[in-house]
Amino acid sequence: KERQRLVENILKPFILEDSVYDKVCDVMLDNFNKGLGKDTNADARVKMFPTYVRSVPNGTEEGNFLALDLGGTNFRVLLINLNGQEVDMESKIYLIPQHIMLGTGVQLFDHIADCIYKFMKEHKLENKKLPLGFTFSFPCKQLGLAEAHLTTWTKGFKCEGVEGKDIVTLLHDAIKRKGDMHVECLAVINDTVGALMSCAHSDRQCGIGLILGTGTNACYIERLENVELWDADYEEPKQVIINTEWGALGDNGDLDFLITEYDKHVDKHSINAGKQIYEKMISGMYMGEIVRLVLEKLRKNGLLFNGKGSEELSTRGRFYTKYVSEIESDVDESDFKSTKQVFDELNLTDYTDQDCRIALHVCSLVSKRAAYLASAGIATLLNKMERKDVSVAVDGSLYRFHPHFHDLMVEKIQKLIKPGLRFKLMLSHDGSGKGAALVAAVANRLK
Ligand code: ADP
Repeated sequence: KERQRLVENILKPFILEDSVYDKVCDVMLDNFNKGLGKDTNADARVKMFPTYVRSVPNGTEEGNFLALDLGGTNFRVLLINLNGQEVDMESKIYLIPQHIMLGTGVQLFDHIADCIYKFMKEHKLENKKLPLGFTFSFPCKQLGLAEAHLTTWTKGFKCEGVEGKDIVTLLHDAIKRKGDMHVECLAVINDTVGALMSCAHSDRQCGIGLILGTGTNACYIERLENVELWDADYEEPKQVIINTEWGALGDNGDLDFLITEYDKHVDKHSINAGKQIYEKMISGMYMGEIVRLVLEKLRKNGLLFNGKGSEELSTRGRFYTKYVSEIESDVDESDFKSTKQVFDELNLTDYTDQDCRIALHVCSLVSKRAAYLASAGIATLLNKMERKDVSVAVDGSLYRFHPHFHDLMVEKIQKLIKPGLRFKLMLSHDGSGKGAALVAAVANRLK
């Protein structure tokens, strides 16, 4: 009983009242509006980039398209055939060697052009003229559908001479150098837009794209009148997809009212300290580490494993986010099969069922907070859009594989939205490939 009380005391900061999530919604809305405002955008942390994607597919898109997917876990080249609701896809993963990830932009784009060349050769497309859509999931300021200037590299990439430049020009230059290819990049999108477009192809209500993977980000359809920095035409449809880059919420202290000592620790030891505060409380790159820090604190207080840890448990980054999913999949409390397997992998030898129960409790509190925080973001978008029915396209391994993330989000979003609004969370399949082809198809039709 006394142990129980001490454990609860340590875990308390992760249990947040409804009013706290209401406040997150308020802060999120405030940041959205700052990003959209002409006079406030320069200082805004949540950048709200217009993507120049104006409409969702209408299902009549057809033809053959190439797509590139860079910025996820793998680099891929894809060939997509669109024909009404039928979509055929062939893709190939190509490695980007470390020396290219950390080399020059010319090397990177020459490598990409090489991969496209090989892919086309293998698929007997040598002399075909093909439009291409590029899913490039790094923060970009877009100046048009096919003009995207990289703001800053993330996720382990650091190629000299690319930041600030238009990646479409860099790609086209490399394709020209390679010669013998008739490929034109018609659109650049990121993974959130890919997810949205891919789902919208079969569901006309789709209005939000959400990523819960290595990082977190969301995009949504906004009315042009709300986009004060919009600099292109005001013709129908009077809307544009906004890439929120919401992971940066809290970078100015706006979330300090709920930050825990564990969040501070994770941030301090990251390669981008002080940045992406909201993302670090939610996404797959950080969740396991938050859990590890809490488990270590409990252990050091003699509340877990009889005080005895392991080198693995003390190693930063060694508690993978997939462990959270595995531990939480133990519904039958009497056996704790997966939890024990994780403990064994971490070389923890001295554990009891009570230790299993506490570890499961820690995981469920940390993942619940993450799901609820993401829900606050989605609810804010739904309330802002004020459309009666909106489907949310979701992609990313955290959402895909965590046993309760979907249900937790549905429950919390329902609580946070205005009465009368309705929503659906749907898994997006291969948005980065299909979505890029769809945007290229729409661009090709309007050309
Ligand atoms: P990306 O976001 O890079 O395109 P993913 O969507 O696959 O790629 O996300 C990778 C992230 O998902 C990693 O941070 C990893 O920790 C996390 N992840 C992988 N498997 C699982 C799982 N079973 N449960 C929860 N998170 C997972």
